[in-house]
Order: sequence, then structure tokens, then C-alpha cells
Amino acid sequence: MSQITENVHRLLNEIPKTVSLIAVIKTRGPDEVREAVDAGVRLLGGNYVQETAALLKGLDRTVPCHLIGHLQTNKVRKAVGLFDVIETVDSENLAREIDRRTGESGRGPLRVLIEINSGRETGKTGVFPEAADALAAAVSALPNLRLAGLMTMGSFESDPEDSRRYFRETRRVFERLSKALPRKDGETGMTVLSMGMSHSYKVAIDEGATEIRIGTLLFGPRA
Ligand SMILES: *Cc1c(COP(=O)(O)O)cnc(C)c1O
Repeated sequence: MSQITENVHRLLNEIPKTVSLIAVIKTRGPDEVREAVDAGVRLLGGNYVQETAALLKGLDRTVPCHLIGHLQTNKVRKAVGLFDVIETVDSENLAREIDRRTGESGRGPLRVLIEINSGRETGKTGVFPEAADALAAAVSALPNLRLAGLMTMGSFESDPEDSRRYFRETRRVFERLSKALPRKDGETGMTVLSMGMSHSYKVAIDEGATEIRIGTLLFGPRA
């Protein structure tokens, strides 16, 4: 058995069945992505529109894919045609553009997550936790978007235990919004809490992550 297959099996066995594994495919080759899918990966995560389009084309089946990298407004139309979920909504302006392009595309409602800048680092993507409520209300009012949850990275910490506070604060925002937001007819509401990477996924699951985003642990270090 090759290394990627082994890694996928090990991780899928280790994490609770209620937690989804996203295989993060940035910088990987089509053969690597195909192997991960053959080994049982059911969800992919891409950082860039072009790169992800090329990698998905190399697969012989359809695998749902989430956008986990920052989205520029001039790439929204392409992103809407490619991704099943956009995890990185962090401004009303971007949300409105995604809504408009989704409407034009005729693809039906698009699920989105709000990205939380839980490390409160200036110059980083995401909204500060205290700004999430206003953005969530604005996103919820857009006809073609379905707010499905939150995503966060947190600041990098060499000891994953030090990331716990970022995940905990994001979960608090998640719980607050889940209660506060009106639910449109037939919607499942806020169900996704996307947090934790190769280095920090155990702490993230401990803090309530429903989805972890893993690259290095499946595919090895990035070049
Ligand atoms: C690259 C990336 C990951 C995966 O990181 P690893 O440390 O390789 O597991 C997860 N989330 C986001 C947003 C990323 O850009």
C-alpha cells in the first residue's frame, strides 16, 4: 500500500465518524489527488480557482470540493461554477458578488461559510469574531446564499495546544449565531464548523470541529 493510501486510512479510522475529512490539494499533482480519492477521501479542499479546476479535471469521478483560500471578486464567477461550498466569505461586498454570480449561473443556492480571523491578526483574511454577527445577518439576507457555518485558521502556534483558544472562540461565535439567525424554509442552518489542520486537528475536534482540513498529513510536506 502506498503512503497516501495508508495515511488516508489511518486518519479516517482515527477521527470520529461525525467529523468530515477535507483533503487539501494545493500544490499536489493529479496522481496524488486521485490516490487519496481512491483510498476513501470524499471531500476536497482547494485554495486557488485555476489550480483546483485543473486537479478536478484529472479525476474520473465527481468529488465535492470546498474553496478554502481567499477569493478575489474577479474570480467569483469561476469559483461559483467549481466549488460546492465557499468557506472564505469575509466581507459583505464579496458575499454580494457571490450571490449575484450564483443567481446568474442558475446552479441553485450556494452554501457558504464565514471565515473568522480568530487570531485577530491585521492583514489576515477573515472577520474578527465580534464582526461575525453583522456579516452573518447580511449573508443570510441574500437570496442565493445559504450560510452553513464558520471556518477559521487561527494564528500559527508551534504547540497545537496554544491554538485551542482560537477554536474555542470560533465555536462560541458558531453557537451564538446558530441561535440568533432566522432559518429559511427547508434549510438545515448552521451545521459546519471548519477548523483544524495537520498540526492542530486533534485540538480542533476536541473544541467541536465538524470538518478538518488536512494536507501535509495525507500527502507529505509541500515543496
Ligand atoms: C494549506 C491549508 C490547509 C492544510 O494545511 P496542512 O498543514 O498541510 O494540513 C488547511 N486549511 C487551509 C486554509 C490551508 O490553506
